Amino acid sequence: MVARTQQRWQTPTWKQELAAAFNEPLALLGALGLSPAELPEPLQPAPDFRCLVPQGFAALMGRGNPYDPLLRQVLPLAAEARPTAGYVSDPVGDGNARLAPGLLQKYQGRALLIATGACALHCRYCFRRHYPYADEGPQQERFAAAIAALEQAPDINEVILSGGDPLLLDDPVLAALIAALDALPQLRRLRLHSRLPSILPSRITERLCAILAGSRLQLVVVVHINHPAELGEDAHRALLSLAELGAPLLNQSVLLRGVNDAVDTLGELSESLIRARVLPYYLHLLDPVSGAAHFDVPEAEGRRLITQLRQRLPGYLVPRLVREQRGAAAKTLLL
Ligand SMILES: *Cc1c(COP(=O)(O)O)cnc(C)c1O
Ligand code: SF4
Repeated sequence: MVARTQQRWQTPTWKQELAAAFNEPLALLGALGLSPAELPEPLQPAPDFRCLVPQGFAALMGRGNPYDPLLRQVLPLAAEARPTAGYVSDPVGDGNARLAPGLLQKYQGRALLIATGACALHCRYCFRRHYPYADEGPQQERFAAAIAALEQAPDINEVILSGGDPLLLDDPVLAALIAALDALPQLRRLRLHSRLPSILPSRITERLCAILAGSRLQLVVVVHINHPAELGEDAHRALLSLAELGAPLLNQSVLLRGVNDAVDTLGELSESLIRARVLPYYLHLLDPVSGAAHFDVPEAEGRRLITQLRQRLPGYLVPRLVREQRGAAAKTLLL
């Protein structure tokens, strides 16, 4: 079941939930019955990438657990401020792949549109945490420039709406963008990269589903879930609504120290995903973005985890272990 269609004059539930999200680590800790003294290390007093956590996501965390794997993904710790060799602001070379402002092409046949810089949850390990969104110009101009660049690129047959989170666009903006993409004859597929089905499931409304179903393009949805506890009942229902559109649903995770660096956790994640009609797609090694070194899991450990996972699960429940390498023609497969 999806959220009931809102009356026109009401603020949609998902926007109300976004406005009520925690943006203060102390408030979040308080809601979890934790004090900063119980944390493994101090909070980062003034993070450049602010704290943002919807209440529904916080409700999935264990009370009183300073090591909770969901909390760890969102809590700005002092470790973020420690410079680490090899950790940089643009670890994946986004800056060298621009076809137009906010339109990136690294791989043959597909281009990635940074639809918005906004996210509903600020993941501390985000490889775009330093992306210069503000330099890209106003939304309508960016979209017009992106469409114009795509008109000149007949070899691109798939557009990926990414971000930030593309589902944070308002319905009319998203509908207009999709309509403009529909009109490009060379496009076959529209891919959405979104974390909202799990972190803000109320965003998956009937109206949104109708907009997605109205496109002539084949829809593929890639969600981002790192730990089985992120898949609560609301997320499960939101994913089933998307599955009803007939779109393949795939998941990408990042392998994160202290979050999902255990074979039992990864196995449970795959089992929870498939119950919601989602197949595991990628397990990314951490991109070395400055501020995220405390999440690093070495490649050898990633290989060992995947090898163990393959001994336990059917092949379709084992994600591909990948690393993004600057200038490579595809994500680098590590196993
Ligand atoms: C990761 C990425 C893609 C998608 O790669 P797939 O292997 O097709 O999932 C596309 N464009 C850019 C710029 C990317 O970073
Ligand atoms: S949802 Fe994705 S883009 Fe947004 S902060 Fe998290 S990792 Fe970054």
